[in-house]
Formats: sequence, C-alpha cells, structure tokens
Amino acid sequence: MPNPDLSRGGASLLRRARQNHILAQVPGEELAVLEPHMSVVRWQAGQDLASLDLPRGVYFPISGVVSVMVNMDDGRALGTRLIGSEGMGGLFADAMQGAGMSLKAIGFAETVTVPTDMFFRTLGKSAALSRLVADEVARATATYAILAGCNHFHSVEARSARVLLELHDRTGQGPVRITQQLIADVLGVRRGSVTSIMKAFRARDLVAGRRNELAVVDPDGLARFACNCYATLRSLHGTLWPRRETSAAMQAPQYGPSISLAGF
Ligand SMILES: [Zn+2]
Repeated sequence: MPNPDLSRGGASLLRRARQNHILAQVPGEELAVLEPHMSVVRWQAGQDLASLDLPRGVYFPISGVVSVMVNMDDGRALGTRLIGSEGMGGLFADAMQGAGMSLKAIGFAETVTVPTDMFFRTLGKSAALSRLVADEVARATATYAILAGCNHFHSVEARSARVLLELHDRTGQGPVRITQQLIADVLGVRRGSVTSIMKAFRARDLVAGRRNELAVVDPDGLARFACNCYATLRSLHGTLWPRRETSAAMQAPQYGPSISLAGF
C-alpha cells in the first residue's frame, strides 16, 4: 500500500490545525512554534501506520477517524480507541510498537502530524500544551479501561452500534464511508458477523448503504442498540466530543431492544 499524501506549509495550515480540538486550545504563540514542523497526512481507508515509511510523529486528526489497533501474535487484530478531531495519537510510539499496537485509518482520514522529537521539545517549554497532553493521556487511559470491559462483556451487536455512532459523530453529518471489513477489524470479529448485524440495522432503517459504504441515517434509533459505553465515552470527552444533537434516545437505559439475528 502506498504512503499517504503529505503536504506542508501554506497559510491555511494553522487554520486546519485548529480543526483538531486539542490543537485549537494551544495558545497562538505556541502553535506558531510547532507550525514549521507540521504536515497534513491524508490516509486512505485501512492504511496502517506500522506499514508506512514515515518519520515517527504525533498525529492530530482533523477529519475522519483513526483506530489504535492491537495486533496479536497469532495474526488476529482488534481495534481499541477510536480517535477523531477530539484527540491525538502516536504519543508513545515506541511503547506502542513494542506492544504490537499501531494506528489504522478507519475510512478516509486527515491528520496534522508533528515529528515526535520536535513535539516533545515544544512540550517541555509549554505549560499549556503540557496540560492539554496530560488531560488527553488521562482520557486515553480511561478509554482503554472502558473498552476492555466493553470488549469482554458486551455483545457484538451493541459494540457495532457503539462504533458506528462514534464514527458518525466524528465524521460530521455526511455518510460514514467505511467498509464492513474495517468494522469487523475494529471489533475483532469475522466480517460475516458484521454483515448480519448491518443487515438487521438496515432493515430497521438505522443505517443505509452496502459493503463499501455505510451511512448512519437514524443515530438516535441506533443509540437504543448501543451499549452504555457510547454515552460514557461521550461524557468522558465532554465538550471535546464532536457536537451532535442529543435526544431522549441518548438517555436510554443501558441496553435497548435486542435484534434477532439468524445464525449469529
Ligand atoms: Zn460497551
């Protein structure tokens, strides 16, 4: 798979950087220090950082979503934290790589990327950036703990709804352009399981689209099928989470009605 596109500089780079909700809070003079070292990396769906010949960097999504993948010794993989414009990834690249973890684009994604050495050099001089990073590390740690419970205790159906809603929130009002295979990769299940669940969601007019493109058409309805981890993650991220209208459905009990899935 080819490397993602990179672009640097230009008057719009700082404006684009501020599309990331963490970078948006960095004071202008500190962001200006990072600006000469920033580049925009455009990821194609399914591209994995570990397979790319890129200098090590810290990644701030400005559109789309990347997932922290855990790659097991036996070749299986599982998606963990999803990161959109509310977060950042790659901060502990050495530790991640040593633990078999990598970043993967879930659908098309763009990140503002800063080389790791330059990022930490700036971090040491910036109280504001240090505080923002410490807060993000705390949220990321809590997210991994929440998802450990989610992956162990909650059904694939509930986790699928949670992932679709997370993607929907982070990709704006348009369709979520994601393949069922990528959803299966994130959930660590076979594609056939996801196909059955999406068929049931489509039958209820919760999602639309086929194998290579899915759109959440009724997020409030879909939220009734998601585990409570979705609401917990939203709450954890507070105002950083991309805005979407809430409704009574978002306040629903932990589990909504179960979809009957033949052969699942
Ligand atoms: Zn869950």
